Amino acid sequence: MEIQRLLSVVEARERLLGDVEVLESEHVNTESALGRVLAEDIMAVNDAPPFANSSMDGYAVRAADVSKASLDSPVILPVKADIPAGSGLPQALTENSAARIMTGAPLPDGADAVVPIEMTDDNVQMGDGHAPRNITVLSSVDSGDYVRLAGQDMRRGEHVLMSGDYLRPQEIGVLAVVGRRQVCVVRKPRVAILSTGDELVEPDAELGPGQVRDANSFTLSSLVTRYGGVPNVLGIARDKDKYVEAMLDRALESGTDWMISSGGVSVGAFDCVKAVLERHGEVTFWRVNMRPGKPLAFGNYKGTPFLGLPGNPASAIASFEVFARPALQKLCGRRDLEKPSVDVTVKEQFTSDGRESYLRVMVREEDQGYVAYGVGSQDSGMLTTLVRANAFLIIPAGTTCVAAGSRLKAWMLDWIHD
Ligand code: AMP
Ligand code: MG
Repeated sequence: MEIQRLLSVVEARERLLGDVEVLESEHVNTESALGRVLAEDIMAVNDAPPFANSSMDGYAVRAADVSKASLDSPVILPVKADIPAGSGLPQALTENSAARIMTGAPLPDGADAVVPIEMTDDNVQMGDGHAPRNITVLSSVDSGDYVRLAGQDMRRGEHVLMSGDYLRPQEIGVLAVVGRRQVCVVRKPRVAILSTGDELVEPDAELGPGQVRDANSFTLSSLVTRYGGVPNVLGIARDKDKYVEAMLDRALESGTDWMISSGGVSVGAFDCVKAVLERHGEVTFWRVNMRPGKPLAFGNYKGTPFLGLPGNPASAIASFEVFARPALQKLCGRRDLEKPSVDVTVKEQFTSDGRESYLRVMVREEDQGYVAYGVGSQDSGMLTTLVRANAFLIIPAGTTCVAAGSRLKAWMLDWIHD
């Protein structure tokens, strides 16, 4: 059913996200899982570290044997063993002796502390690589000093990661440590991208009269990739229903979770996207109280969710960020759908027309905190001012003028939420 009323951005986003469900899962290699969302709980199958070991290069001792050691009265101990990293179970340490030990090497039974090399007279640079016969300890240590206990990082049987967790490099490391070569994650959404417009040509084409190059296929597919999807760039459709339908049908045949078009969704005589949706699916809403990006349609094409973005390149990017980004992230299983934002003080006056506005600005951190500067024209056809910007300054609906010094929220375009 078509709803004619101009929706607020919040209402429109809620409606759009209400229909979005997390995709099913798949297995991928651990090293390819960066940026994905876990679809299983991960349990540690062993303690990590698996054994007590040294956190420094030095000498394993019994803390009690060196409790009186200082620069003025050093303690001299015989070195009974040499324990490199990777060595098997070392022999136990007897009273009043030391074992040379390297970082990560297993602590011998009987030892309860490590004296770092810097607290001894061992001069590694001068030595021949062999452990000295005796070591002079210049400082006392407490029991447990420079020792990493078994299970200090992860305990066997402990849940170390949970289904729904977003995989950053550190989570990938945890997967390796608990012995996982493969992991179950949410599948990536496949997103078909369609540019509409009789005036559009490919980037490598000579420009004829009245023609412009298709920017949106490139910006939108980049955005899809950035937010975890797999873009399927369909190309340019002429402004006629039958061309748009033919390209969308081709996308359906190859399998698609979502469809995003740009252009042809306004009130121009040749804007056909809405009509195509009405005939072959549904328009859930059309037009949003947003600047830039008022002409925007959401619905489905033959049952597949379809988002029709405006054609102006800056509008297409802004409305993708507002609507398509959280939808993609929800499909991917992300829990936090908010764009990273900061509170900024505007350094100049900004005006708008009362729609909720996403204005291109440059945000910098200065002494008084984050501040926002204009970057030139807000014309929705201009890409270069967006190139100079690093944030969208958000002016709430109903506000037409914000004075210099006002405090507002800004979405950081270059920060990706982890
Ligand atoms: P429309 O939304 O179809 O009315 O288009 C609005 C403006 O955006 C027009 O100036 C179009 O030429 C331009 N435009 C539409 N699609 C694209 C595109 N894919 N790349 C660059 N400009 C576009
Ligand atoms: Mg057009």
